[in-house]
Amino acid sequence: MHDYLKGLNEQQKEAVLHINGPLMIVAGAGSGKTKVLTTRIAHLMNQGVDAFNILALTFTNKAAAEMKERIEKILGNSEARNLYIGTFHSVFARILRGEAHRIGYPNNFTIYDTDDSRSVLKTVINEMNLDDKHYKPSVVGNRISSAKNALVGPAEYATDYYIQQEDMRANRPAIAQIYAAYAARCFKNGAMDFDDLLLKMYELLKNFPEALHKYQHKFKYILIDEYQDTNAVQYQITKLLAAAHENICVVGDDAQSIYSFRGATIENILQFQKDYDDVKVVKLEQNYRSSQSILNVANEVISNNKGQIPKNLWTENSAGEKISLVRTMTDNDEGKFTADTIQEQKLRNHYHNRDFAILYRTNAQSRAFEESLRRMGIAYRIYGGVSFYQRKEIKDFLAYMRVIVNTNDEVSLLRIINYPARGIGKTTLEKCAIYANEQNIPLFEVVSRAGEFGFKGGTLEQLSNFVTMIRYFQSLLTDKNAYDVAVQVGKHTNITKELFADKTTEGLARYENIQELLNSIKEWTESPLNEEDGEVGEKSLGAYLQQITLLTDADDDKENSDVVKLMTIHAAKGLEFGCVFVAGIEEMLFPNAMSINTREELEEERRLFYVAITRAKHRLWLTYANTRYRFGQLVQNEPSRFIEEMPEQYIDKSYAGGGARNNFSSDMGSAFERMQRGFGFGSQAADAEKKYGPPPAKKTNSKPEYLPITPPSSKVVEHKPGADFVASD
Ligand code: ATP
Ligand code: MG
Repeated sequence: MHDYLKGLNEQQKEAVLHINGPLMIVAGAGSGKTKVLTTRIAHLMNQGVDAFNILALTFTNKAAAEMKERIEKILGNSEARNLYIGTFHSVFARILRGEAHRIGYPNNFTIYDTDDSRSVLKTVINEMNLDDKHYKPSVVGNRISSAKNALVGPAEYATDYYIQQEDMRANRPAIAQIYAAYAARCFKNGAMDFDDLLLKMYELLKNFPEALHKYQHKFKYILIDEYQDTNAVQYQITKLLAAAHENICVVGDDAQSIYSFRGATIENILQFQKDYDDVKVVKLEQNYRSSQSILNVANEVISNNKGQIPKNLWTENSAGEKISLVRTMTDNDEGKFTADTIQEQKLRNHYHNRDFAILYRTNAQSRAFEESLRRMGIAYRIYGGVSFYQRKEIKDFLAYMRVIVNTNDEVSLLRIINYPARGIGKTTLEKCAIYANEQNIPLFEVVSRAGEFGFKGGTLEQLSNFVTMIRYFQSLLTDKNAYDVAVQVGKHTNITKELFADKTTEGLARYENIQELLNSIKEWTESPLNEEDGEVGEKSLGAYLQQITLLTDADDDKENSDVVKLMTIHAAKGLEFGCVFVAGIEEMLFPNAMSINTREELEEERRLFYVAITRAKHRLWLTYANTRYRFGQLVQNEPSRFIEEMPEQYIDKSYAGGGARNNFSSDMGSAFERMQRGFGFGSQAADAEKKYGPPPAKKTNSKPEYLPITPPSSKVVEHKPGADFVASD
């Protein structure tokens, strides 16, 4: 027997050894789905399947990199570098680079991130003389994104009765027109947004039989992880690709479907068995990840959802410690408790920072943890949120590089044409934009033919100098790698000099960020070549830009760094950690106020809770605060209804100290009283008393509010729903 089969259980082995024909693995968290997928790829290759013929779609690029590494280890060679493996977006971006000409795009097309796409929308909305306060680019952008992911194009959107009704209800009748104008503008800019990477891939396969044929025969084996979170367009693409050989293996867990707000549908799992004859279905029931207590709690919670595919998930792992449910006074106390506990666990149980993860529902929650961790001197990293690549100076610098690769990229061009300041004013740019629109030519063309459009004197000179500089950078592309070009950009644009001259703290930080960017480009150009670097296999600027634009939250990782990880639960999908804190287990936050209006929404929140709990291997803390600041307001929430759904025998309840906020002192008495009556006035509460003094005198006759836990309802001091609904993207 091959070594890689040895540790697997019977069902896992069955899945790995199944070579031809459709295969579906539906199984609970931590049952080895991803491990089976990896081993299966190694097995296929071991059986003589060429790596070039295997397509594997993962949830993050990091997961793909880890898979490759594992496969190389199993096989003892580097063939795995020839696999097509990555996220839907990165794999399709790579294919589209080679096929762009068929659908009228340049093969050096730019990929717009959410920010870029919002700024195109804003331009379009303004040009249509609509109010961008009413037609908010973010709102309109979400509508367009949903449409694209449901394969609804601008023309169809405009005629769809139900969509029209919805837009009317929101008093935004012009969205269809904006959609059309936006799509046209992106096309003109030679740019695709994230959704286009899927949509255009679908159109390519649908409308160009030669392309469909080519990729159907290339990808003889297709494997998809986290299948429960695929949406309509992803489903259609993989169905088309798999149609010739039907060697498609999907792996998923309906209980972990958490992206329906992005159009993902569990239906895809149910549909799979109808799409293909003779689907082999494998169930994995043994969990290898979590302690018995953690697993029991997870199983119990998810059983509250109706219509799950029945699963019997068990483990041989030991019972482990109980789950700690910890109440604090404020969100700051929650942060402090978490940092204290991490410190204590490190000392007592010899854990490292890297063994801990703090998971939360919304990005905005990270602040309190950051502060406490920093104060304790515990190294941490936040995944998602405002990432390095979203910082202004980084975006500016990258905008140069994007214009060099694709001068049609108007968003990037407008970012840098007068940065650093070179006397190209707003009026000049407005004139250029008008000419570009009138003649339907790219903005850069107007700029480079400025003389013909009547620009004169200093303005003409500035515009020509700019064009000359860009042309110079472009001349480097043929024989210089991404790093060499980047260094020239820093030098000739004066960006480095300008930032260096700014001796303020912020200026210094910006300068260091640019240096950090240059370092990372250098590192990338010096790393071994692999398939992601494009068909040409070079360390070109274009390949570099694509790679960074498609980083996902969980990819933002420096190997082996010993840090506590902070991220949203969405970003934590598929990952595992020794010790996990899930924060903010409160009504209105988790379940989120945005998602408690229908059973479907609530069940998705519960699945999210299930995902959070099942990330933990050994220890799990669930924390919630009596009060927290949200949207600049002090909000008082009840404990989450999910708390009631957890079986008591696996839970250790405690209160973890905490001081009152100044402006909350009026409620101090009752708050302290609730604490005392609450989950016991245990040792931690006694510590709290030492630190913060004795609780105020008891009031009489107040009803105990926390024992038993109150039914779900929530007091919200002031709440703007939706303002902080941030999931990983
Ligand atoms: P999720 O649903 O969270 O994505 P999963 O089903 O993909 O989980 P994996 O991440 O593949 O599960 O596996 C969970 C853990 O169990 C990993 O640490 C993996 O190495 C381990 N594991 C899986 N199968 C076995 C096995 N047969 N023997 C030992 N360890 C295993
Ligand atoms: Mg997995």
